[in-house]
Amino acid sequence: MKLTRRDFLKVCGGTAAGTALLGMLGPESFLEAAPIDIPLRKKIGEKTTICCYCGVGCGAIMAVESGKITNIEGDPDHPINRGSLCPKGEALYEVANSERRLKSVLYRSPGATSWDEKPWDWAIEQIARRIKDTRDSNWISQDKDGKVVNRVEAIASVGSVFTNSEEAYLMTKLQRSLGLVYIESAARICVSSAVAANTETFGRGPMSNSWIDLRNSDCVMVVGCNAAATFPVAFKWIIKAMEKGAKLIHVDPRFTRTSAKADIYARLRTGTDVAFVGGIINYVLDDMEQRPENYNTEYVREYTNASFLINQDFKFEDGIFSGYDSSSRSYDKSSWQYQLDENGNPKMDKSLRDPHCVFQLLKKHFSRYDAETVCKITGTPKEDYLEACRTFAATGAAGKAGAIVLSSGACQHTQGTQNVRAYGILQLLLGNMGVAGGGINGIAGASNGLGCSVQGRLFHWLPGTLSSPTADQQSLEEYVKANGNEAYIVSLLKSWYGDNATAANDYGFNWLPKGSGNYSFVPLFAAIHSGTIKGLICWGMNPAVSGPNSSYIREALAKLDWMIVIDLWETETASFWKRPGVDSASIDTEVFLLPAASSLEKEGSVSNSSRWVQWRYKGIEPPGEAKDDLWITNRLMLKLKQLYETEGGPNTDVINGLTWKYGDPPDVHSVAKEINGYDLETGQLLSDLTKLKADGTTTSGNWIFCGSYTEEGNMAALRDPSPGPFNIGLFPKWAWAWPLNRRIWYNRASVDVEGKPWDLNRPVIEWDSLIEGWMGDTPDGGWPPISISGKYPFIMKPQGRAHLFGPGRLDGPLPEHYEPWESPVMNPMTSQQSDPVLKLWNWDKRGTPDKYPILATTFRLVEHLHTGSFTRNLPWLVELMPEMFIEISEELANERGIANGGRVIVESARGEVTAVAMVTKRLRPFSINGQEKIHQIAIPWNWGYMGASKGDSGNLLTSCIADANTGIPELRAFLCNVRRV
Ligand code: SF4
Repeated sequence: MKLTRRDFLKVCGGTAAGTALLGMLGPESFLEAAPIDIPLRKKIGEKTTICCYCGVGCGAIMAVESGKITNIEGDPDHPINRGSLCPKGEALYEVANSERRLKSVLYRSPGATSWDEKPWDWAIEQIARRIKDTRDSNWISQDKDGKVVNRVEAIASVGSVFTNSEEAYLMTKLQRSLGLVYIESAARICVSSAVAANTETFGRGPMSNSWIDLRNSDCVMVVGCNAAATFPVAFKWIIKAMEKGAKLIHVDPRFTRTSAKADIYARLRTGTDVAFVGGIINYVLDDMEQRPENYNTEYVREYTNASFLINQDFKFEDGIFSGYDSSSRSYDKSSWQYQLDENGNPKMDKSLRDPHCVFQLLKKHFSRYDAETVCKITGTPKEDYLEACRTFAATGAAGKAGAIVLSSGACQHTQGTQNVRAYGILQLLLGNMGVAGGGINGIAGASNGLGCSVQGRLFHWLPGTLSSPTADQQSLEEYVKANGNEAYIVSLLKSWYGDNATAANDYGFNWLPKGSGNYSFVPLFAAIHSGTIKGLICWGMNPAVSGPNSSYIREALAKLDWMIVIDLWETETASFWKRPGVDSASIDTEVFLLPAASSLEKEGSVSNSSRWVQWRYKGIEPPGEAKDDLWITNRLMLKLKQLYETEGGPNTDVINGLTWKYGDPPDVHSVAKEINGYDLETGQLLSDLTKLKADGTTTSGNWIFCGSYTEEGNMAALRDPSPGPFNIGLFPKWAWAWPLNRRIWYNRASVDVEGKPWDLNRPVIEWDSLIEGWMGDTPDGGWPPISISGKYPFIMKPQGRAHLFGPGRLDGPLPEHYEPWESPVMNPMTSQQSDPVLKLWNWDKRGTPDKYPILATTFRLVEHLHTGSFTRNLPWLVELMPEMFIEISEELANERGIANGGRVIVESARGEVTAVAMVTKRLRPFSINGQEKIHQIAIPWNWGYMGASKGDSGNLLTSCIADANTGIPELRAFLCNVRRV
């Protein structure tokens, strides 16, 4: 038996010997030493779990006695949290023991003013009937051009980001087989812009490194995120780095606990990230010219598209890139493409001097972002700004590493994609991608936001982030021509349709619904408003609080014929019909509220932000009649199959032919194995994704998870605490990381073209010429070094080079500063005030500075999770953070006669909220572009009208206008006014 950290602490037991041993080794040394075999006493009733809240992915131990959870504590063996938990994690005990949990099915009939309790069988029967009737009478088999689309637009689904991945997979399988195209989740409105940005820059969307890897950094820049308070367990790895001399830069509109720990606090006005980072890019490019020895110029030249030549027609004039069409408010991107040689390959200039090469275009573009101009825009004190530039630029030397940490604060902007693009460009210029201690590290606010998303919980993705088919792809061949990935899509189709999927019928490709437009979160609610969508399924999501312009969202819900909410709690969304100020009897929406099991009451896997797939175990039974999502999905599909078998309906064959044999109750392991995939010729589970084939002889419900559950067992359940190669903290045998158990993405950029690490002290991989193989992490692309194979490290990009210049986004190939849609100042950079292609909706009311002179941003609290539907029902957390408040500066409070603790009304063009005023030095007025005093306030968005602590929702004030690339709404920068109550 292996000695774990927890066992070690028990063996030491506080004795003198134990203390002496700890003193000699230190817990760190111990953790990273090889495991020792010591027999241990087995604890009865203890099971491990993974925290259900945020994407850090902390481990916890449940103590179970007589069917009750009697204690939950941090798992000391878990490499990420090592026994610690944040306040939310500490309150997990209350989730299992709360009297406020839903315990039976509740039903609200049209016009009713209260709930009725109902049995499950009745509910499943009724819900299946609503789904079938709505689907069948609104079925679209062909679009107006006669193309087969096999879809239904009258039913929508939102959520979830908290269910297990196996549950999310089954939800997707069920909903796609029904023909749904409106499938969205909180990931859309949280961090989708980071995914779009990183995919453009590096080839993949999520976090590149890991929480533990932050300890390897020489400098961490935390942007728009109060990591010390909201993600304290992740933050402790930054502290570890600081103990070894690393610097911390905090960039944020508010001075927070993260600022207090930082070496440099650079405050900035909300919505000005592009200017802030654009200035650092300019600083680096200048410095690189003067002191090239301080930078890894080989990395920039070889591993990015710096040397690629761009079409000579490319231009940027007064805030507009070439190709702009003002009537459609969109760009034609043809002038942003590469110049090609006679073989169709991009032309290059490795000297980086050609005026059309990316490097020179980058220099020209960002030369306008001098420190003076930047600080005029951002309001950052110039000395702080220059110090931040100097400090982060110092990570550009080969052998140094700098990391950027961000969360939704950077993403929830109309320029969210370009914000994160700017961080990516900076990291590439500094050679910080692929190396230990580097990367772009986005923290997901939900425990399985990433895992659910990659199981297809967003409209544009099938499982494995395969593109959802569109109407112009009428055959598998056309789909593969547009998207590639033939082996992956064929294996998915074989998983779903089994023997019914044959080469002769394109493996059932045309049974998948095909979209013809934008089905993302805001258009989804617009379609409810317009009456297109008649039924909504809400899986653990609370859009009545999380949605932008929440009044608009709440009004939409009243236009539905029916709604199904699956949750642990009675949320604002479930109870929108009895919200304050509304006549319940006038609302005809039928509502089914299904009680769900918590993560402590079921088994399955979750993927944290670092892509670790971690298995959590069932501790206890759910309370009352609550059921897990796998059970609910399974029962619903079995009932639907029964209905279609007896009654028929459009595309019945798809539903009847869909593989669905998980048992009743369903076996989560059989779902996990289906996700992994089988070799159909041997019947064996596949060992990894390289075994997937396009000839119909393999299955895999999700190709990126192939290797997660093999003939050797469930890899997500691995718990070997060995730190792994080079002792940099990869922990390769703890859980499993997708794909291929690769822990640091783009890691072939951590070595030179010969395969030698840039950083000999913290190598991630290294080419061993004796064995002709790589040592260390799973290499990102298994080929030999570039000097032998010619294969470049960013393997998801066409030429293997990362994109400094990104021709694929809709709003420009380079980030450019525009003012937020609502701004108190004119744009100092160009005459283009706001992003020329941002998504506008005709119901969005725009506030102007004469009426709303104060800038506002929203933020989250560590004590409350997102909409608070979870945490505002837990007394420990409510006691810690009892009431809705806003943060305002002393200067603004003095001007408006507002006392600390007094009540204020905040009003925007969309609505108003009442809250307690927290008058604080953490906010100060900005001086922007010559205007001396621009006030900014900060509003948490964690409250609503249900729960043990009630309060107005911050999102009553925000707008639906959105980023052009992903539709993520502007939740972080808008105008308001404040007055004393
Ligand atoms: Fe860890 Fe996040 Fe859970 Fe807190 S909420 S214990 S940081 S996983």
